[in-house]
Amino acid sequence: MLTELVNNPACIACGLCREACPVFAILRQEQISPRGLALLADQNIASLVFYQCTLCRSCRVVCPVGHDPNGEEIRSALTTQGVETEANRQMIANIRACGNPFGELKEGEIPQKLYCC
Ligand code: SF4
Ligand code: SF4
Repeated sequence: MLTELVNNPACIACGLCREACPVFAILRQEQISPRGLALLADQNIASLVFYQCTLCRSCRVVCPVGHDPNGEEIRSALTTQGVETEANRQMIANIRACGNPFGELKEGEIPQKLYCC
């Protein structure tokens, strides 16, 4: 269960975190807000939306109950279920093969693609 991974005070859905979230500031979508992520985790919904979180934890700083979105643990659980973005897959493959997230680089080469979540 995703909720079990977020082993901290339950979200009380106050919404105070939304304006602290850099992702919500750009996309203005409730499902990508910290409150939305808490709700998805609570409903055990394995969604690619969890990869949109920057893991900055600004939401936790302003949260009155100290809820932690715990994006690292949730993504780890999602990858074991095969719920993963292609960029995340590529980034991990690059790290395994080349020791860096960019893939094979020549001496002095500047990566043209930044693989991220
Ligand atoms: S940790 Fe994720 S959900 Fe929380 S403020 Fe940062 S980007 Fe938003
Ligand atoms: S995560 Fe915290 S600040 Fe955000 S809605 Fe839930 S209780 Fe409120």
